[in-house]
Amino acid sequence: MSEFKAFSLLASIIDRVSLKGYTQPTPIQKECIPVLMKGNDLLGIAQTGTGKTAAFSLPIINNLGQNKIDIKAKSTRSLILTPTRELASQIMQNIDDYADGLGLKTKVVYGGVGRQAQVDAIALGLDILVATPGRLLDLIETGDINFKGVEVFVLDEADTMLDMGFFNDVQSIISKLPKKRQTLLFSATMPAEIEILAQAILTNPSKVQIAAETVTIDLVNQSVYQLDKSNKLPLLFNILENADYEKVLIFCKTKYGADIIVKALEKESIKAASLHSGKTQAVREEALQNFKDANLRVLVATDVAARGIDVDNITLVINYNLPEDPRNYIHRIGRTARLVKMAWPYHLR
Ligand code: AMP
Repeated sequence: MSEFKAFSLLASIIDRVSLKGYTQPTPIQKECIPVLMKGNDLLGIAQTGTGKTAAFSLPIINNLGQNKIDIKAKSTRSLILTPTRELASQIMQNIDDYADGLGLKTKVVYGGVGRQAQVDAIALGLDILVATPGRLLDLIETGDINFKGVEVFVLDEADTMLDMGFFNDVQSIISKLPKKRQTLLFSATMPAEIEILAQAILTNPSKVQIAAETVTIDLVNQSVYQLDKSNKLPLLFNILENADYEKVLIFCKTKYGADIIVKALEKESIKAASLHSGKTQAVREEALQNFKDANLRVLVATDVAARGIDVDNITLVINYNLPEDPRNYIHRIGRTARLVKMAWPYHLR
């Protein structure tokens, strides 16, 4: 029996979660869902990959599904703000899966794609809006959205917002929200700026902390090669001769470097694409989808674009350039651990 039944969520949500293959809640879900269903504010110190999306979205979907109202034009009942376009569309896909059958109106908005479809969807009024900061501010400025009806606000990956230079945008958005609302703030780390923000925007929050992965998990085999720079590409080709590496994610430092690797791989007839902030959104989405669908064997990404990528069955992660921050190494190689979701409860301990 699904352990999600213990949460008294709507039956359709429990069914959808079971269909996704979730049998037991992850630690963050166990802690967050009950407090959020009571309407409390929440400070969640946790990374993407812990099951955070379901932890905040299931209670939101449940509350909105249970208390339907006539939504005003150009407004939304809940707002989820997240730093990257990939995370935004990933969150939206999850929410649409969990909320299927409840008739909730949802939309994701981000830059780099046409805005008219976004404006039209918001004009009808939404239950759930997932957004990145830049496009949302743009829609506020043109008067295409107002926040009068916001009941719940989720600030996702607050520290990433800070790292990516979005902090002023985030603060500007928050200043426009109604004072009376439920607020959830998620951050993997708590730098001083986020501490201050949390104190300012949360009221008596419940605090949930899922220990960051400070060690790599045993299920990922790791090897290191010491070699001259000029030998890197030849070694890469050599490694990729092993056909068992069906889905390969390569991390490198710069956008330029990523494009060079892709060109070199294509010359060797290896299907590859790059994923970084220099690409248009349409090209980024196409690359990610092709990688998910196994139409591409290799995806070459920079850290910024790769944050939070959730792709099943990645067989090999290559650090073509070492990350600057050691925590990113754990994060990068954890992209393979999704192959063994059963291992979760263990590596989260
Ligand atoms: P997130 O941290 O929200 O990005 O979730 C990471 C991955 O875990 C996603 O692929 C989710 O679909 C999956 N997931 C979330 N909750 C569960 C669960 N209770 N059991 C198994 N997989 C889950």
